[in-house]
Formats: sequence, C-alpha cells, structure tokens
Amino acid sequence: MRTSSTKRILVTGGAGFLGSHLCERLLQAGHDVICVDNCYTGTKENIRALLGNPSFEFVRHDVTFPLYVEVDEIYNLACPASPIHYQFDPVQTTKTSVHGAINMLGLAKRVKAKILQASTSEVYGDPTMHPQREEYWGNVNPIGTRSCYDEGKRCAETLFFDYFRQHRLRIKVARIFNTYGPRMHPNDGRVVSNFIVQALSGHPITVFGDGSQTRSFCYVDDTVEGLMLLMNSGDEFTGPVNLGNPGEFTMLELAEKVIELTGSKSKIIYKTLPQDDPRQRQPDISLAKKKLGWEPKVKLDDGLARAIAYFDSFLKSGMSSLKNEYPLDEARSG
Ligand code: NAD
Ligand code: UDP
Ligand code: UDP
Repeated sequence: MRTSSTKRILVTGGAGFLGSHLCERLLQAGHDVICVDNCYTGTKENIRALLGNPSFEFVRHDVTFPLYVEVDEIYNLACPASPIHYQFDPVQTTKTSVHGAINMLGLAKRVKAKILQASTSEVYGDPTMHPQREEYWGNVNPIGTRSCYDEGKRCAETLFFDYFRQHRLRIKVARIFNTYGPRMHPNDGRVVSNFIVQALSGHPITVFGDGSQTRSFCYVDDTVEGLMLLMNSGDEFTGPVNLGNPGEFTMLELAEKVIELTGSKSKIIYKTLPQDDPRQRQPDISLAKKKLGWEPKVKLDDGLARAIAYFDSFLKSGMSSLKNEYPLDEARSG
C-alpha cells in the first residue's frame, strides 16, 4: 500500500547485476520501482522474482532515447560494465553514458527528481595516486579500447555537475569500485565470475599478465547499501564519492583464494594483459564514512562463498536460461 514515504523510483539498467539487487532492496523498503532496461547485458531472468510484484514495473527501453515517466528519484545505472561487453559496441557504450545521462538529466529536470549516477573507479584510469581519493583527476587514455567506457563515464559526471550548476538539479555521483556477487553474468569476462566459473567447471584459471595487478572487491549488498544511503543523503552532498571495499588483492591472490574456497583442481595459466589494464586500484573511502556513515561489511571470503554458491547452482541448472538478446557470444570467446 502507498504511504506518504512511498517514492516512485526509476532504476535504469535495473535488469543488470547491480540494478536487479537495487530494485529488490527498494521494493523491500516499500517503494514503487520502474525498471528501465534494453536487456543489452541484463536479462529478465535477473528480475523474474520481482515481475509479479504490483509495485514493480519493467519497461524495455534504450536510455539513448528520450523517456517520459513521472518519478521522484532516478538511479542511472544503464551501461554495460564489463570490458568485453562495453568494447563489443564501443560507440553504443559512449552513447549510453552520454546520451543516456542527458536524457535522464532532462527527465529529472522536468519532473524535479533527485538523480544518482553510477559512475566508476575507471574515471581514475591507471591511477598514479594510491589509494584513490575523490580529488584525484585520474590518468585516462582518451583513445584506447577502454576509453569508450572511461571517457563516457567522465563525460556523464561532467553533465551531472553542469545540470547541478546550471539547472540546480539535485544530483548524486557514486564512483563504484569493482563489485561482485550473485547475478554477475557468468560469461562477461569479469575476473570474479571468470575465476569462479573456471574453478567450478575444472577449467584452467586465466590470470592476465603476471597477476600482480590489484583490485579491491566489494560485495553487491554493500555497494547497494552505499547507493541508497547516498541517494538519501542531504541535498548539499553531491559527491562524487567512492563506494568500494578498501581490501586490496592481486589477481594471483584472488585466483588462489577461489581455488581454495571451491576446492578446485584447476591450474593457473597466464594470458596477455589487456591494453590499458590498470596496475592498481583501491578506494579511499574516508568521504563515504564521514558523509554517509558507510563502510563495507562483507569480507571477501564470505562474499566469495556466496558468489560461489550462486554460480554452482547456476551451472547445475544449465546456462541456457540466461541468454542476452544481443550477439555478444562471439565477443566473449575472443
Ligand atoms: P550490467 O551489465 O549487469 O548492468 C547494466 C545494465 O544496463 C544491463 O541490464 C543492460 O542491459 C543495461 N543497459 C545497457 N545499455 C543500456 C541502454 N542503452 N539502455 C537501457 N539499458 C541499458 O552491469 P552492472 O555491473 O550491474 O553495472 C551497473 C552500473 O554500475 C553500470 O553503469 C556500471 O558502469 C556501474 N559500475 C559497476 C561496477 C561493477 O563492478 N559491477 C563498477 C563500477 C561501476
Ligand atoms: N528528456 C527526456 N524526458 C523528459 C524530459 C527530457 O528524455 O521527461 C530528454 C529530452 O529528449 C532532451 C534531454 O532529455 O533531449 C535533455 O533535456 P533538457 O530539457 O535538459 O534539454 P533540451 O530539451 O532543452 O534539449
Ligand atoms: N583478469 C584476469 N583474468 C580474467 C579476467 C580478468 O586476470 O579472466 C584481470 C584483468 O586483467 C584486470 C582484473 O582482473 O586486471 C579485473 O578485471 P575485470 O574485467 O573484472 O575488471 P576491471 O579491469 O574493469 O577492473
């Protein structure tokens, strides 16, 4: 039943990994949720459990086109997030970040909604400051294969701050660091899903480069909690704010951890490091702690155990139930 605290909330990219968890949490908090997604990398399978909920509505739509709905808040998550997916159609990736941001900001302006952008640690590129603080402007290659994503997200941040300055919009910008958990796409090439699927199916674990590059992995529940706290923070706080887990691991350490937790007999093999692969990444989360009272709660071992349980039952159920509607398979096997 609607109460005075019930909000109408739009989640773009709501059928994706992070978006589906966010929709679920917003419904649990008693809100009405409109999930907009073109199912480029997300699937209806991710939101199947929500489809029967009268407070939930799924709209198949591409955010690069205008959208007219009446809402109180917008979480703008639409954008492919894994390197394989965002490099498959790089022009569309930039359009999604840039045209998508313009349309969602235009919508927020018309209906006076508060709007949150899912930005990324990729705006720091291959960082020369470690750990990364929000003041750092980044070290991004503007013409490389990752640029469609990095520069698209940087431009989206620019648009958010220009709408804030020019039109007084209520904006929030979250810089999300690597997040993992159930409903990651098993074939999207991201390291956590790759290693777990390889370990569970007895295939070699593919470490790129010498495996000494680092990442910091945040469990999805923690990231979603951070996004909601940011949305509900005072209007004076716009961010950008880092959301991530400061625990930093090399990819070799991650591979060894996954082998240990799955009890797998898989061997580690080494493959070429992709272009512009950041050497190190670790968030400084002092700002999130201070402004949002947020810090991650789930330890890597516990989160990995939950993700392993998900992929285990997923693999046993057969992969065919989770298919994208775009021809990404060729890219994935490349
Ligand atoms: P995901 O690929 O699972 O989800 C993205 C969703 O956006 C998918 O459902 C996809 O179909 C949808 N989408 C893509 N283009 C669209 C378009 N033009 N119109 C409508 N929908 C479109 O990825 P995710 O990991 O859930 O990431 C969600 C957001 O969070 C992305 O914006 C991503 O850049 C950001 N982010 C994620 C991480 C992470 O580690 N997961 C880290 C940093 C930032
Ligand atoms: N827009 C939208 N939904 C709305 C209002 C606007 O998708 O409810 C789109 C619109 O198509 C426009 C963009 O958002 O291209 C930017 O809107 P804005 O009002 O900022 O700019 P303008 O319409 O003046 O170009
Ligand atoms: N990586 C790896 N093996 C894989 C997939 C990825 O060693 O099978 C590495 C990749 O080179 C990068 C890190 O893991 O250094 C994280 O990659 P991911 O694609 O998950 O995220 P991002 O590079 O965007 O942080």
